Amino acid sequence: MKLYARKAVWQAWLLGAVGAVAFGIFHYFDSYESLLAFLQTHEDYEIDEFLLALDIFGVLCLIYGILRFWDFHREQKRREKAESQIDWMALHDNLTGLQNRHSLERRLRTAEEAFGGSRRFSVLVIDLDGFKRINDLVGHHAGDLVLTTIAARLRDHLADDNLYRMGGDEFVAVIDTPSLALPVAMALLQSLNRPVPFNETSLDIGASIGVATAPTDGASGVECLRAADAAMYTAKAAGRGKVQVFDATIRERMQRRDVAERNLRHAVAYGGIRPFYQPIIDLQSGRISGFEALARWQMEDGHFIPPADFIPLAEDSGLMTRLTDVLLRQACLDAADWPADTRLSFNISPIQLKDRMLGLRILAILMETSLDPRRLEIEITETALIQDLETAASILSELRAAGISVALDDFGIGYSNLAQLSNFSFDKIKIDRSFVSSFQDQEKQEKIVRAIVGLGMGLDVPTTAEGIETEDQLSSLSSMGCTYGQGFLFGKAIPAEEARLMFDGRCTLPLRLSS
Ligand code: C2E
Ligand code: CA
Ligand code: CA
Repeated sequence: MKLYARKAVWQAWLLGAVGAVAFGIFHYFDSYESLLAFLQTHEDYEIDEFLLALDIFGVLCLIYGILRFWDFHREQKRREKAESQIDWMALHDNLTGLQNRHSLERRLRTAEEAFGGSRRFSVLVIDLDGFKRINDLVGHHAGDLVLTTIAARLRDHLADDNLYRMGGDEFVAVIDTPSLALPVAMALLQSLNRPVPFNETSLDIGASIGVATAPTDGASGVECLRAADAAMYTAKAAGRGKVQVFDATIRERMQRRDVAERNLRHAVAYGGIRPFYQPIIDLQSGRISGFEALARWQMEDGHFIPPADFIPLAEDSGLMTRLTDVLLRQACLDAADWPADTRLSFNISPIQLKDRMLGLRILAILMETSLDPRRLEIEITETALIQDLETAASILSELRAAGISVALDDFGIGYSNLAQLSNFSFDKIKIDRSFVSSFQDQEKQEKIVRAIVGLGMGLDVPTTAEGIETEDQLSSLSSMGCTYGQGFLFGKAIPAEEARLMFDGRCTLPLRLSS
């Protein structure tokens, strides 16, 4: 019972008891007769009129009290209904009506408290294949329809109590009888692979399903869920549209990943990853226009783990924000030591452009390190723009408004089209290394490089050719009108101390540019 309802009952009992005691006392002493006699003998006091008025007032108060009590009762019912709706919303997904992630976490926790690690059950992690494409290309309306249709198909096989939507296009089913997990998963796969009718056409959709069983694959419910998740990713990597049961190979991969993640966390916290700097050369003057910061993780034995290995791990394990903060702060401190007309180029991962606080964090680091925002250029890839266009656009305009420039990295290998390019204002286009390495042997690649340089000139945006390794490549690119160059020909990424020396002239570039 709610606190206020308990208080009301308690007060009613108390008043009832006071009334009963008062009645008993008045009755015992024949008080009413005494009062009547007193009233008759003192008619001129007009007390009887006063008592009559008091009686009428008392009856009216009673009626008023009953009406208010009725209102209170209705209000209480309404509130209880609203509260139960809020509880429902907190534990369910609004679109499909299935239970949500909190609900699953609660169930797994409760099961663990009740049974320890002894209860056997299976978890199915179901992730749709091709959902993002439908959402992006056909629209959110179609995406919503797919999700509700999928939820209905899941309900054909399993009770609502065992189904959860984890967010996005991921669902989870809990199966209380592990021997049924695989047959159910196969049946679900078949039913989810059917196209979803939409207007006059149909939408192609599929699913990848991972299966894990507690307590063998994971001692706790949460670990079992992780195991099923890893199995689902294995199914996706193996070509999608499959059911994958958790096995020893996946366990080994998960353990390796856990160790790598722990090491990465340690490296990020204790400065094991530092920025190195690769020079970017102005092809007209031959001078260093700036450096691109490239993350380097050095192991105790001296060897380096390439960023292509640890950046994705940092992204997946939620370490990217922290890593970027550490690297950018260090890079800004280093760049503050360079001549004022040189720039620092810094890579930003696509996932970071979904974070609305990114702009503020970058600006805070610039303030803290006193680096002029006009000396910072952030490099983003086309993928970043495709994933969450609206947020990316607002972050980029925030950065540009503060004076930071934005370069489009790895241009040519992604999906961006000219319309997308014209939607954003870029300060630089970086031609991907794959074109530069092959354009001299392949006519088609050469035309692409020429076209990108031409596009840059047309838009009045400078271009940088990445991955220049030979003098021939350099001279062709210079003659095409490419503005900047970067590559092993000028130098690999080097530590800050060495980069600083390049400006002092104590360390010369491997190539003296003729122009
Ligand atoms: P990117 O931004 O395209 O960086 C250029 C990559 O090309 C670097 O690889 C660089 O060492 C390499 N490179 C430069 N010139 C040449 C050349 O002449 N020949 C060849 N074969 N390679 C050349 P690296 O340092 O291994 O970085 C790989 C990628 O990792 C980068 O590609 C970037 O996307 C990412 N990355 C590196 N540092 C960071 C970082 O601090 N943050 C984020 N978000 N990503 C980073
Ligand atoms: Ca880059
Ligand atoms: Ca690049």
